[in-house]
Order: sequence, then structure tokens, then C-alpha cells
Amino acid sequence: MLRFVCLFSLFSSLFASAQPVQNKVIAGRTTGDWPYLEYGLGEDRLGGAKIGYLDSNILIRVVDSTLGNYKVQLSRNHFAYLQKTSFKRDSVVPLRPYYLTNSWIAIGDEKYDYITITLDEKLPYRSLQQINPSRIAVDIFGATSNTNWITQRSSAKEIRNVYHEQIEDDVFRVIIELKHEQHWGYSIYYKENKLVIKIKRQPADLDLEKIKVAVDAGHGGNNSGATGKTTRIAEKDYTLLIAQALQQELVDEKATVYMTREKDTSLGMNERLNMVKAEDPDFLISIHLNSSVRDSVKGVSTYYRYIGFRPLTQFILNRMLELELFEFGNIGSFNFTLNGSTDYPNCLVEVAFLSNSEDEQKILDPRFHKDVAKKIVAGIKDWLKYCKKE
Ligand SMILES: [Zn+2]
Repeated sequence: MLRFVCLFSLFSSLFASAQPVQNKVIAGRTTGDWPYLEYGLGEDRLGGAKIGYLDSNILIRVVDSTLGNYKVQLSRNHFAYLQKTSFKRDSVVPLRPYYLTNSWIAIGDEKYDYITITLDEKLPYRSLQQINPSRIAVDIFGATSNTNWITQRSSAKEIRNVYHEQIEDDVFRVIIELKHEQHWGYSIYYKENKLVIKIKRQPADLDLEKIKVAVDAGHGGNNSGATGKTTRIAEKDYTLLIAQALQQELVDEKATVYMTREKDTSLGMNERLNMVKAEDPDFLISIHLNSSVRDSVKGVSTYYRYIGFRPLTQFILNRMLELELFEFGNIGSFNFTLNGSTDYPNCLVEVAFLSNSEDEQKILDPRFHKDVAKKIVAGIKDWLKYCKKE
């Protein structure tokens, strides 16, 4: 582990009396595509556990360093890790001992609601979805309240209430109560020094013909994914076949469908995220085939990262179980890149295991692709019906 503390010890002893804080801290800003904060230095095949994604140009205080990450201080009591490639140094920015919030506004346009909070600086944040009641909580690190009013306009349609809580001296929590039980997504970004939380509304018409679905066939091109146990078939070819069957079923229901790939294309994860975000779908379905080192492991599973997006994954799993697949389960807090976006509900479907010969036989059968597509669509329809009742 490399430590800045050592590099800076000489420097700090020379200037300790003049600038006690800044000598130990390197100031800079987030940069690049999809910078994200991690809780710790844990690693597995999905990477370290993420706190969440950040906008670029956000003020970052580096206090220590490992091989690939900087340890950053978010507030007096909160630290996180940021990839070095997501940080650019900014020696001009003066670090202040505290930053203030200002007044806010909650407003809407034809499609979205927006909460805009004026801040002294572009500060780091994290967000959390809550259910029963459905709320979004956003913590702004390093911010102390000087909010003396919140303006609320009737053009905001999805926001029921907004308020805040100073949960620590320098952590400011924004609470947004939603009108609908279902979360439809949100994004957080800065417009100059104003933090914007853009909230999606529940679609006015929940019939599939008015809905836009993004479908992602996992892997592709130079990324083959898993391999069939007995036949050595590539995951990428069968995710595409199942995704195309799903596309056909959705088009038959008159839904609008966006496919991230329709051929054997190489696509990175961030590339897929950017493509889907630009299309602004109502929700996303990702298709993968699972694999395990133990060939007895089999069955279907669906995955979500954020609790507000769970119902879609449960309805789809329930219908998939009608295919007489073993229940591998409904898996939450899943640290998969395409589950990481808060912009729209999303569901990863791991249809069956390529490493299990019984499942593999099913995966080879074109009728099974059609059956899977029909069950996913049935699950989507069950979910939309449940959303309508709210
Ligand atoms: Zn896969």
C-alpha cells in the first residue's frame, strides 16, 4: 500500500502551523465515464461494493492511496474509495472547512420532476431508495444546512413531499416522498453548483403499447461469456437468441423495444449504460445465462440492485418458474453494472445454467427461447397491472 501520509510528512511538518488541514489532503475532482465510490477495498468477480455513481467535476479530498484507488474523505466521519482513473488533481481549488446549502425548488416539466438545491460547491452524494412508503433519500457530504425555504410548484407531479434532515454536522439528507408505490427511477447531477435530482414519473398509460423497453443481450463479440458444459456453446450466442425472442414477443404486444445489440457485437459495460440511458426507456431487461463451478447448480434467477426496483424482478421470476426450472432465487443488492443505474427499473434475468447439463439441453432448444420470452412478457404484464392498482 502506498501512502501519501509518508510523502507529505516532510511537507506537513514545514507548513503544519500555517495550513494544518490542506497539507494532508489532495484536492481534485471526479473525471471520466461513470466515476463511482466504493465502501471499502473488497473485491470479487463483480468488483468492490459500490456506494453509487457520481457526476464528473465533483470536489474530492484524497487522504490516502492504495495501488488502484484513492481513499477519499466525504465528511468528518465518512470515507470511501475512488478509482485513480476517476480522479484529476485540482491544485487551484481552495478547500473550505464547511459548505452550505441554500434554498431549493421542486418543479416539473412535461416529463420529469426536478429538485434543485443550490450549494457552495459540487459536493459528493449518495442516494438510497426506500419502500413502504416509497421515498428517495439523498445524502450530500460536507454540506451544512442554510436552507431557509423550499419552494414547491404544482408542476411537480410525482413528488408528494420534500424535506431535509441534518443527520450529522456535515451530512445533509434530502428526503423525497413519491406519490406512487413503484419507483420509476431518478438521476442526480450538477448544473453549475446546483444539485439536481431528476425524478421519473409513473407513465400515465401503463399498457405495453405505450411502454418503451430496453433489452440487453449479455456479452457479444470478443466477450463470449460462459460456455456450455457438454456442447461448449457460447453464452453470447444464446443470450442474443433469447433477447431476440423477447423483442419479438414485445413487438407483438406493440411495445417499443430498444436492443443494445442485434448482432455479435463487442460492447463494454459503460457503453451499454450510456446507450440505454440515452434511449430513456421505461425499464430495462438484461438477458444472461448462468454458470457455476459445481455442475449440479441449476435454475432460474432474477436480480436487482435497489429495493425500489425489486417488484419487476419478482413478477418475472414467478412467471419463469412456470417453465419448470429450478428456483435459484431472486437476488438483491446485486453489484452488476446494468443493475447499478438508478435511472429506470431494471431486471437481470439469468435464464438457466450453462454449466448444468439438464439446463443446457433446454437452452439449446429454440422453443424454450420462445417460452422464456413469453414468460418474461407475462411477468412484465403482471407487474404493470400491479403498478396500475396503486
Ligand atoms: Zn453472462
